[in-house]
Amino acid sequence: MSAAYDENNIFGKILRGEIPAHKVYEDDDTLAFMDVMPQAEGHVLVVPKAASRNILDADPATLGPLIAVVQKVAIAAQDAFDADGVTIMQFNEAPAGQSVFHLHFHVIPRREGAPLRP
Ligand code: IMP
Repeated sequence: MSAAYDENNIFGKILRGEIPAHKVYEDDDTLAFMDVMPQAEGHVLVVPKAASRNILDADPATLGPLIAVVQKVAIAAQDAFDADGVTIMQFNEAPAGQSVFHLHFHVIPRREGAPLRP
């Protein structure tokens, strides 16, 4: 069971236009923008517009459109950054590595022999 959604998280602020982001994709349900501390060149975050703390509390109806955009962004990022593959990561609650408590997927283009930055 997750804690309650708190709208004062940084991605909530980006979704409401209260702080800037380098947006790369947007539709009615989903926003994708560049990670400010990229673990590799082209690191994108994909978030639902619906208020979801993480995948544990997400409405299943949110997940279909979201994962379709994750795939779209992964294909575009691999192409744009001439990558050899794409890592997709998603964390739920602090012990699992989540630091921003609005559901998000990391989409990270990968090059042969290039480890992720910490
Ligand atoms: P998490 O550990 O999966 O919660 O990852 C949160 C991610 O959000 C990290 O990769 C951060 O670099 C990224 N991040 C934090 N603040 C911002 C921001 O204002 N814009 C874009 N990315 C951010």
